[in-house]
Amino acid sequence: MKKNLKGISLSELESYFESLGEQKYRAKQVFRWIYKGAGSFDEMSDISAGLKEKLKESAEIQELKTLDRRISKIDGTRKYLFGLSDGNTIESVFMKYRFGNSICISSQAGCRMGCAFCASGQNGLLRDLSAGEMADQILKAQKDTGEKINHVVVMGVGEPFDNYENLSGFIKIINNEYGLSIGMRNITVSTCGVIPKIKSFSDDFPQVNLAVSLHAPNDIIRKGLMPVANKYPYDELISACREYTKKTGRRITFEYTLIAGKNDDNQHAGELAAKLQGLLCHVNLIPVNQVSGLAFAPSARDNADKFRERLQKKGITATVRRELGGDIDAACGQLRLSRPVTIN
Ligand code: SF4
Repeated sequence: MKKNLKGISLSELESYFESLGEQKYRAKQVFRWIYKGAGSFDEMSDISAGLKEKLKESAEIQELKTLDRRISKIDGTRKYLFGLSDGNTIESVFMKYRFGNSICISSQAGCRMGCAFCASGQNGLLRDLSAGEMADQILKAQKDTGEKINHVVVMGVGEPFDNYENLSGFIKIINNEYGLSIGMRNITVSTCGVIPKIKSFSDDFPQVNLAVSLHAPNDIIRKGLMPVANKYPYDELISACREYTKKTGRRITFEYTLIAGKNDDNQHAGELAAKLQGLLCHVNLIPVNQVSGLAFAPSARDNADKFRERLQKKGITATVRRELGGDIDAACGQLRLSRPVTIN
């Protein structure tokens, strides 16, 4: 089997080149080409013909297959359905903001966390993505749009902390100056609340942004929405978040999906504000996406605004997330559940 060079670290690539009897600096050249988006060794113009042939015999650069792409007519958001080499599928969303281009990538095919409101977890976990499969979502979107992506959010299909080792490899590659050179502060990882990994993450990547999906003001509601809350109780999660902010000095974003009649009334807002008092954080309020087969309705816009105001009165900064790609099923997991169309 050929060695896939996409997704291995620069030092591993250097060792591989040494094992082929090649100079280490050649590995750096090839690494740079891979993250410029080269799909074959023939595209690498500063590599000798002899080395190209040698590489072709033992190595390859795997690519995701674009199965579907939808472009929003409203705001230019692009949603991709990518096929993996084993036939599984994942999703990514490219978004344009005033501060630059951003992509939301997947970290697993499927997810075993089983959040009640989420389309991605409906069929459970199929497998983890490799670091290369995570990085390739960025490369494919850059190639398709012709634009550089400068912000990466790991908030698509999957729980990134359930695939921590590959997530770590991915972050190091996209941050590497010979890779994609994306600053640590321009990367955000979102977890549903895997406490031990929040602790590891604060040691390993103190500059990377952390988002925590909270979605409830207390354990009772959270357990009804997120099975992970049975393992990691609410108050322990908030304590881990407090420790994280103390250690890193960085603000946490709490994601809070507003579900009509479930977690979105005045009392819930007050309870949430009390839980988050004194914590360096921002609350991102997201009216839930309607997913076929799931019986949840989004809060009305004025209700979402009232919830935000209540939090702000109690000193907790909050915003209601602007919906992007509303005309293309841009929410996580929705494209995978619809029928794919092959476009290349
Ligand atoms: S919301 Fe995130 S953690 Fe929960 S099931 Fe969906 S992908 Fe998994």
